[in-house]
Amino acid sequence: MYDIIIIGSGVSSVFTMLKLDTHKKILAIDAGPSMENRLVQPSTTGFGGLGLSEGKYNFSPDLGGNLSSKIGENLVIKHLSEVEEIIDAFGGQSALTYQSHADIENDAFIQFLDCPTKHLGTALSKEVYNNIFAYLSTKIEFRFNNTVTNIEKTGDTFQITTSENNIFHAKKVIVATGSKKNPLLNKSFAKLGLTYQKTRVDIGFRIEMLSETFDPILQNNLEVKMRSGNLYSYCMNKFGRVIKRNLHGRVTPEGQNSREDKPSKNGGATF
Ligand SMILES: Cc1cc2nc3c(=O)[nH]c(=O)nc-3n(C[C@H](O)[C@H](O)[C@H](O)COP(=O)(O)OP(=O)(O)OC[C@H]3O[C@@H](n4cnc5c(N)ncnc54)[C@H](O)[C@@H]3O)c2cc1C
Repeated sequence: MYDIIIIGSGVSSVFTMLKLDTHKKILAIDAGPSMENRLVQPSTTGFGGLGLSEGKYNFSPDLGGNLSSKIGENLVIKHLSEVEEIIDAFGGQSALTYQSHADIENDAFIQFLDCPTKHLGTALSKEVYNNIFAYLSTKIEFRFNNTVTNIEKTGDTFQITTSENNIFHAKKVIVATGSKKNPLLNKSFAKLGLTYQKTRVDIGFRIEMLSETFDPILQNNLEVKMRSGNLYSYCMNKFGRVIKRNLHGRVTPEGQNSREDKPSKNGGATF
């Protein structure tokens, strides 16, 4: 019997695990590959989930969902600074940290957001998550390549079943399976009385252009975040390049920052 079982070991679970009382008996189950395999093979699942890829942390309550409306902006700001401390403590101090900023007045159409940003890049992001995993795996048990298919509650005990027919029991369960609807678990959620809530969904598109095209809004700044109505810009890669990434058999484009390879003439903005 575990005190806590965490389903999913993506980025939100990782930061949760670091806050749990590790004297308790804790198990984390993830459908994705082990940390070891993630270091050699691109994947969006496994330890760190989707968050392991580019390692870009925007420390602003304006970006990345609507947590402020749930817990209040001050608490979000406090947690964001804790995230930065954790990243630094696990080897991310050398990462480029900058203020996304534009020396331009907002107008009715575009609002420029000030946002401290820390960009680990793919290689350092892997290193930081590997360090966190090395620390957590001495305190928490992990099962990778196990997809949870059923969660049942009898009395005060939860029974968790995986696609590999493993059965585990726990007093408490944390579900952190990402923002995708999870058809496998819908039946369990319905029985437990859990419902989905609407949230902001980020559908990304990227505009590629010569880096100097950005100069009128960027001047000497590396990046600027913009909002126009419900549309947010997330990421600019001045002098960065677009690289091909093979993800689960699908080739996807990914913006790489200029420090990870030779700078290119191009830049991209992701919305
Ligand atoms: C291309 C792309 C780039 C992004 N870039 C950034 C960025 O630079 N900065 C930023 O802040 N955000 C970025 N994001 C958003 C960020 O990745 C997500 O907000 C974040 O990963 C969500 O964390 P999570 O833990 O909720 O889910 P995830 O990271 O998706 O993790 C969920 C985990 O749950 C596991 N899981 C799911 N179902 C089951 C099941 N039934 N049983 C067991 N395990 C299960 C999965 O295997 C996965 O490992 C990006 C997203 C995308 C798609």
